Amino acid sequence: MPHPASRSQRDRPIGRAEARRARRVMAMVVCALLSVGLPGQATLATPPQAAAQPAPLDDGPYLFNEQGKLQAVWICRGEVLCAPVARQQTLAPRCGYPYPLAVPAFAVADAMPYHGERIVAVSDIHGQFGLLVRLLRAHGVIDQQGRWRAGDARLVVTGDVFDRGAQVTEALWLLLQLQAQARKAGGEVHYLLGNHETMALAGDLRYVNPKYVEVAKRLKRSVAGLYARDTVIGEWLYLRPVLLKLGDTLFLHGGITPENLELALDIEGTNAGYRASLGQPKDAVRANPASARLYDGKRSPIWYRGYLDGQLKPEEVRTLTDRLGLARIVVGHTTQKQVGSFHDGRVIAIDSGIKDGESGELLFIENGELSRGLLDGRRVPLVQHAGAPERE
Ligand code: ZN
Repeated sequence: MPHPASRSQRDRPIGRAEARRARRVMAMVVCALLSVGLPGQATLATPPQAAAQPAPLDDGPYLFNEQGKLQAVWICRGEVLCAPVARQQTLAPRCGYPYPLAVPAFAVADAMPYHGERIVAVSDIHGQFGLLVRLLRAHGVIDQQGRWRAGDARLVVTGDVFDRGAQVTEALWLLLQLQAQARKAGGEVHYLLGNHETMALAGDLRYVNPKYVEVAKRLKRSVAGLYARDTVIGEWLYLRPVLLKLGDTLFLHGGITPENLELALDIEGTNAGYRASLGQPKDAVRANPASARLYDGKRSPIWYRGYLDGQLKPEEVRTLTDRLGLARIVVGHTTQKQVGSFHDGRVIAIDSGIKDGESGELLFIENGELSRGLLDGRRVPLVQHAGAPERE
């Protein structure tokens, strides 16, 4: 069931000052005007190279909402190109995102009812679009054209698509496109926000790839402005949840501490709290008692590492999951060499180091059976650990 706050947030007009600012900056973007082809005419002469490293300053599209009209903007080989586009139009790939892109009619919250058969999860993509595509292709989640082919399965991304790597835009569009395609097939893509999403939306640039600083400069926006509420990516990002429970499994980026159990007992309330705070500066969310706990670095659901750094013993994790009525908690954020099972299967750590751009893994949960999906397409069992990882 969509979150009750979703409709009102979806329809929420951007603030007047924000709109004025957006109009002012958009008016200053100098771009070569393109025609983008009619809906359904999106074809490419040469097949897209998803895994190739992008040339310097190839990026896009960004879809900016300017007084009710959508403008698509790319930077291709350093040149800013733009075109007016319409909702539900399909854009041919130009540079940046390598597949045809269907402009969504509007952004929606995640679709619920869960029937429980097949879940595939991945985390901490950090701009490594090529690796993400290779992993999803190797396991038949997407086809050669980047289209959903996992039927009624659910793909869960436990945060940190942003920062570090140079293909964040491409990864975001892929997830957004897959979400729409999955829904048509009875499946779903759940993109949960991690600490790097909240940082990006709040304008915290500590880990941003320098490419996006340059892109923002060329498009006369701040880096956070590339994902503001007046963009198609932004209107989608600002609706994403942080916590997701599917059956007896809780997914989130960092973790729930024993002191924060109620945050996981009121998933919709916690997700609404995050949504309300997105895009605000760190000082403001920490000064507000309603959001301070959500961003407290030591215990925050998007920053916590306590299951994997020795803070919690296996019996404490057992008590915590029992109280929440969970078989397991699936987290990203703390990098392991491979997807691993800790605390007697109660914690599954799925940040498999994709950020380094060399390898990565998927987690599969099928009728309660867990397995790892490797880059070469093999499926293998999880390595079981009685407690936390050995510290090196
Ligand atoms: Zn993280």
